[in-house]
Amino acid sequence: MTFKELEIIEPILRAVKEEGYTQPTPIQEQSIPILLQKKDLLGCAQTGTGKTAAFAIPILQHLFNNKNENKGRRKIKALIITPTRELAIQIGESFSTYGKYTALKNLVVFGGVNQNPQTNTLKGGVDILVATPGRLLDLMQQGFISLKDIEYFVLDEADHMLDMGFIHDIKKIIEKLPQKRHSLFFSATMPPAILKLSGAILGNPQKVTINPGQTTAEKVDQAVYYVSKKNKIKLLKHLLEQMDIDSVLVFSRTKHGSNKIVKLLDKENVKAEAIHGNKSQQARQKALNNFKEGITKVLVATDIAARGIDVEAMSHVVNYDLPNVSETYVHRIGRTARAGKSGIAISFCDGEERAFLKDIEKLIGQKITLIEDHPFPDDGVVEQPTKTQQNQRPRGEKSNNFRRNTNNTKKPYKSSKKKFFQKKKSD
Ligand code: AMP
Repeated sequence: MTFKELEIIEPILRAVKEEGYTQPTPIQEQSIPILLQKKDLLGCAQTGTGKTAAFAIPILQHLFNNKNENKGRRKIKALIITPTRELAIQIGESFSTYGKYTALKNLVVFGGVNQNPQTNTLKGGVDILVATPGRLLDLMQQGFISLKDIEYFVLDEADHMLDMGFIHDIKKIIEKLPQKRHSLFFSATMPPAILKLSGAILGNPQKVTINPGQTTAEKVDQAVYYVSKKNKIKLLKHLLEQMDIDSVLVFSRTKHGSNKIVKLLDKENVKAEAIHGNKSQQARQKALNNFKEGITKVLVATDIAARGIDVEAMSHVVNYDLPNVSETYVHRIGRTARAGKSGIAISFCDGEERAFLKDIEKLIGQKITLIEDHPFPDDGVVEQPTKTQQNQRPRGEKSNNFRRNTNNTKKPYKSSKKKFFQKKKSD
């Protein structure tokens, strides 16, 4: 299947080709025909699957085709709501990229920054608005934004929206949308609360499900190190030195924790920056840009700040802390292995996190490769496992010189380690 076969118009085809996309991803292949027919869509897919292009391309195509009907001042015809500022920026960039030959104008609005540049652009007229809920409502209340001309409405990362407590904001926004509109709803998971919300937004939608197994867990090479809490920083430094890492996103469960990691790395002369909700938008954007440009090799982030970060060629993800919610693990490792590429996810697991590891392995349906031979083994577990600990990890045969790979065959550490890391380098 090619983009041309999906009946994408020439100006968008050209832009997509320039981006180096040779063929549509599964979500694009399935969603674009539905959206070009102006049907509502319920998409069960996460960031990393190519879902932004799946909705941006058809929206751009409709708006471009109807351009002549909309002479005069530009009106906001498409609204995309997304939970975080970083995601909003990335979606805006995607619209600019795919729409660069359409002359359609998009604007991204989010909180935490001066609103004047946003309102100035709004006054000039925009076709597509990408927004986080709070700033959108704020600008609506001030009369800078009207939703009465919206034809295309996209609610992105709905599950994350609910987790972040945006439900009331979303309801307020929906109330202001015209009844007659084309709606798209994306969520990585579909628990009952999300399905209920989708029912309030969509009218008889077509459903597209992209199994996360196809997109992340299977494509990412995953390894886990048993290491005590206090040795995690040493292990991180050791791995940064030992492995050929271009860029690594390090996940910390808390904002405080991420600051601490940056400080500790700093002491070890490793330049790192943190992004989390307590940092100003400017600081977050600067850190992200430094990371994207390769100025900073290590970016430390909390889950919310990192969600949706799209950095080309990010080779490694490190779970400095294992998440207690298993789905979060899948989201995290999906930051590497973006559409078509593979990546490496390394997890640090201290004694208290063993139960989280078990849950994660259950969710992804595979065992994560345990690397036992490293300078900071978690004493008493890796070297001299107790009965209880062995029970917690039934597959684990505790030898210092051997580890199990995912095929459950024994291999001497050195050669298997080499293989593990060589694989990534060639990707
Ligand atoms: P998304 O899920 O929208 O965040 O997209 C994830 C990544 O996939 C982004 O870096 C996109 O630029 C990239 N991408 C989207 N569609 C394609 C495609 N058809 N071929 C290659 N890369 C793509």
